[in-house]
Amino acid sequence: MRTLTILGSTGSIGTQTLDVVRSNPARYRVGYLTTNRRGQLLAEQIREFSPTGVVAFDPVVAQQLRAEFGSQLEVLEGEEGACTVASRPEVDIVVSALVGFAGVGPTIAAIQQGKRIALANKETLVAAGELITRLLKQHNAELIPVDSEHSAIYQCLVGESSAEIEQLILTASGGPFRELPADQFQHITPAQALRHPNWSMGPKITIDSATLMNKGLEVMEARWLFDVPPENIDVVVHPQSIIHSMVQFVDGSVKAQLGLPDMRLPIQYALGWPQRIPNEYQRMDLPLIGSLAFAQPDFQRFPCLGLAFDALRRGGTAPAILNAANEIAVAQFLDGQLRFTDIPRCIERALERAEIVDSPSLTDILTADARTRADVRRENASTK
Ligand code: NAD
Ligand code: MG
Repeated sequence: MRTLTILGSTGSIGTQTLDVVRSNPARYRVGYLTTNRRGQLLAEQIREFSPTGVVAFDPVVAQQLRAEFGSQLEVLEGEEGACTVASRPEVDIVVSALVGFAGVGPTIAAIQQGKRIALANKETLVAAGELITRLLKQHNAELIPVDSEHSAIYQCLVGESSAEIEQLILTASGGPFRELPADQFQHITPAQALRHPNWSMGPKITIDSATLMNKGLEVMEARWLFDVPPENIDVVVHPQSIIHSMVQFVDGSVKAQLGLPDMRLPIQYALGWPQRIPNEYQRMDLPLIGSLAFAQPDFQRFPCLGLAFDALRRGGTAPAILNAANEIAVAQFLDGQLRFTDIPRCIERALERAEIVDSPSLTDILTADARTRADVRRENASTK
């Protein structure tokens, strides 16, 4: 029986993780759950899973939960609360499923206690990949990817030597605007961008998938997870999302991992590794799928992908700056304050303006993140 902390249990990955727990009551128990401010959903989760404690980032929500459940369980708040429940000694696995840079602190707290981390929060590796890699070694912690592409690569690498990797090939669905002509991009609305063809996910990653920034962030994630330089990472558009990613080896042989697009599969793989957990989920029917298509990504219509490769090659705090600018731009696009085509423009300007620090410490990364957020907000407020 393994005890879990689920950071972000009220989100898309968090609720799907609880679904895996629900199907495997003899393997997993819930230690701690966290939310930003979705108190009602967290209350339902408390009633169903009886955790030892919970965290709400929002102090008002924490207060409400304390009033209702304070006599039965521990209710903590803020980032400090999340770091506390990520480090508790009885916790075996921390599922890192917050969205955005908010995931960095609690993920580091889990690493420092040598936990297994099932990592969904890609922004942690994007903003602090070099530092995280160092901390993982230092604390003998285990990072197993939840992102479907990285889970696929992880599975392809079982029994292989990393010295024999020639190329990582990340697949991308291409998002809802894969075939949209360039002159239409400026008119894209949040409602259109939130309609992803293959996956149902939180709003931030859904917009990232529409700009292809999600794939850019995943290239960075792959760079750190598998220690492969950017020139050996390729992206191929594959609209059916059946091949989740591939590895090409030095002899030209390519291994791929396939499956229906269902995030519960990579989630349960990360929880169960090295074991596979049986399930009754729907199986893939290749004749029904019929054919698989592939295409080159279009860097012209989707400039975010190129910006991500550039930031990764530049290194230092450049990826943290790109990530912070993207988070603000996406939030402002969803609020109706920016056009879709303003997202890459904001990021490009943020990178041009910033002073990039090499081999950054955590303080350098936190500073770059905070400064970029303030700069992008100020600049966008003044251009309105
Ligand atoms: P989501 O928006 O559905 O959920 C985010 C969770 O984090 C919620 O529980 C929310 O309450 C909490 N949260 C949000 N902002 C917070 C903050 N500032 N402080 C503390 N808690 C906060 O997001 P999601 O789609 O589940 O994505 C989570 C992470 O997993 C992201 O990094 C995303 O890129 C990654 N990911 C998601 C999917 C997917 O299918 N949803 C697939 C691959 C990777
Ligand atoms: Mg992914």
